[in-house]
Amino acid sequence: MKPFRPYALPLSLILLFAFLVSPFSPVKKALTLPSKVPAYVMIDAGHGGYDPGVLSGDLRESDLTLAISKEVQAALREKNIVAVMTRTEDIDFAKPGMKGKVAKRADLDHRMNMAFEQGATLFLSLHVNVSPLASRGGAEVFYMEELPEAKKIAQFVQTKLHTLPEMTKRAAKPAKYYLLRKQPIPTLLIECGYLNLSGDRSRLISPPYQKKLAQAIAEGVQAYLESQ
Ligand SMILES: [Zn+2]
Repeated sequence: MKPFRPYALPLSLILLFAFLVSPFSPVKKALTLPSKVPAYVMIDAGHGGYDPGVLSGDLRESDLTLAISKEVQAALREKNIVAVMTRTEDIDFAKPGMKGKVAKRADLDHRMNMAFEQGATLFLSLHVNVSPLASRGGAEVFYMEELPEAKKIAQFVQTKLHTLPEMTKRAAKPAKYYLLRKQPIPTLLIECGYLNLSGDRSRLISPPYQKKLAQAIAEGVQAYLESQ
C-alpha cells in the first residue's frame, strides 16, 4: 500500500503552475499575443555581415533584404505604426570565431532577443529566395503554426501582396524555420521572390518595386491591426 502523502497533489500543481508561467513554457507564447494597437513591429533584414544569404550573380540576399526592410520600415511609419529594424547596415550578430550552424543560431538568437527586450509585438523577417526547382516566382509568407495570430497576420500580408499586378499568387504557409519555432511573439518570414527567375529578379532589384512590395507588406500589417 502506498503511503498517504497529503502534499503530493498540491506540490505537483505548484510545479505545473511554475512550468506554465516559466519563460520556457509554450503557454507564455499565448500570453504575448499582440493585444493592443498600436503594434511594435521589429523588421529583420535577413542575413548580413559574415552571412550574405543566397547569391545570384553579383546579387547578395543580405543587400536586397536590407533595401526592402528599410522601405517596410518607412511604409509602416507612414501609417503611424512603430517599426524598428534589427540591422540598418551590413552586419551580423554572431560572435567572433563562431562558424557554421553555431554562428547562424547566435545571430538569429540575438535578433530574437532584440525583439523580446524591446517588447516587440510582431517580428517580420525578410528574405529573398533562390531555387532551381521553382517554376514560378512570387513572394511567399511563412508563419509559425503555434500562434493562430501569426497565421492571421500572414494571410493579411499575403493577400495584400496579391494586389501587386506583377505578383505571382502564392499562399501563406506554416513552416518550421528556426525563427518561427523559437520566437515567442508572432513572427512572419517573408520570402520576397526568386532571384534565379528573371521576372522576379529584375523586379526585386528595382527600387520602385521594392517600395511597392514594402507598401503591400505594411498594408497587410495595418489591415490585421484594424481587424482587431
Ligand atoms: Zn534568407
